[in-house]
Amino acid sequence: MTTITRFAPSPTGRLHVGNIRTALHNWMLARKAGGRFMLRIDDTDAERSREEYVDAIREDLAWLGLSPDGEERQSDRLAKYDAAFEALKGVGRVYPAYETAQELELKRKIQLGRGLPPIYDRGALKMTDEERSAKEAEGVLPHWRFKLDHDEPIRWEDGVRGAQKFDPAQLSDPVIRRADGSWLYMLPSAVDDLDMGVTDVLRGEDHVSNTAVQIQMFTALIAAQFAAAKMPSFAHEALLVGKEGKLSKRLGSLGCDAFRERDIEPEAVIALLARLGTSQPVEPITERARLVDTFDLTTFGRAPAKFDDTELDRLNAAIVHQMDFAEVEGRLPEGMDEAGWHAVRPNLGHVCEAADWWRLVTGPIETREFSDDDRAFLMEAGRQLAWGDDPWHQLTAKLKEATGRKGKQLFLPLRQALTGMDHGPDMAELLPLIGEEGARARLAQAAS
Ligand code: GLU
Repeated sequence: MTTITRFAPSPTGRLHVGNIRTALHNWMLARKAGGRFMLRIDDTDAERSREEYVDAIREDLAWLGLSPDGEERQSDRLAKYDAAFEALKGVGRVYPAYETAQELELKRKIQLGRGLPPIYDRGALKMTDEERSAKEAEGVLPHWRFKLDHDEPIRWEDGVRGAQKFDPAQLSDPVIRRADGSWLYMLPSAVDDLDMGVTDVLRGEDHVSNTAVQIQMFTALIAAQFAAAKMPSFAHEALLVGKEGKLSKRLGSLGCDAFRERDIEPEAVIALLARLGTSQPVEPITERARLVDTFDLTTFGRAPAKFDDTELDRLNAAIVHQMDFAEVEGRLPEGMDEAGWHAVRPNLGHVCEAADWWRLVTGPIETREFSDDDRAFLMEAGRQLAWGDDPWHQLTAKLKEATGRKGKQLFLPLRQALTGMDHGPDMAELLPLIGEEGARARLAQAAS
């Protein structure tokens, strides 16, 4: 059976790191099994869903290199939900309820006040036909609930959490459809998972109790409507938290735009999120195949995964240090060639910083005051400078001999005179890029 996974964002906002991680893991799960990764746009909430977010989701996935093998939209599938709804109604698993939001809130408060869990009391199920007709005569339209079967515990073997067991009597019959006919998340998602042949549902642990409810929906739907379908497997990954250990607001708005603004490589985001919260080491791995091959749900931990920006920056730097000229060519400052890239690459945290270092080659550089001693030394450097294959090592060898200087005393004034900086890329690589003429001028200027 082909593995089919899905990523099902609601287009009510931009993707954030938590969503990106879920998308990535579903993508890896499918890739590893040679299966299909589907994008499902959960846009049943017409009021909050926005087309611009649908576009942004597609763009972000493309930027991350997580292209889906197919896309579906819930707003195109409403007829399927209607059919499922009718089928479930036909077997008594869906019932109308008439309570107002205020009435439900009051019930909740009373239960909580008595120290009881705020579970829906099934008041609507106890109504007589007359009572229902009276409501309708008053013009009250019902919303609809899915009737949970209280007979047996709900069990599943979770790919991350292991054996799970829920007592359905401890759950409220979920509202699946509003009085205006619009859908809540629960039923459409179960219908789609069956209809699209999803084999593996992998999502955040905030969905664990939804899974309990949806397992009963799957069972009821398979019996009533989808005879050939099979219930998917479930896995719920621990949530992502900030490094302070809390679900932070900042993480909830941290997404691809922010990464792009900070010039973070998509590969750094992928390398971090692929293994964060697992027992496998987070490493600057740029080959997707390696990440895919080592993807393994059994290595996922139960503790929240901590997202740390400094770890992302560290990975980004390590990944930039591995990038070839061809990969970055279009993003480099004008005139910077392969040798230039190789010279500055080890000094970069982000590709955009190449421009700062490139200025040391193209100039003008910062001038500074040198001591009399250093000026004499730099004058000597100008005399000793000869242009060959490896001008830096030739120059420093000769200067060492001529002046007796070594270590910092030898290297620092040269670096300062030639680049205007105390530190920076390897001088042996920089000097040929600065060129003979430029080097002579800079040494002369510093010595004057
Ligand atoms: N649209 C739901 C969400 O974003 C999908 C959850 C699921 O994966 O089933 O939370």
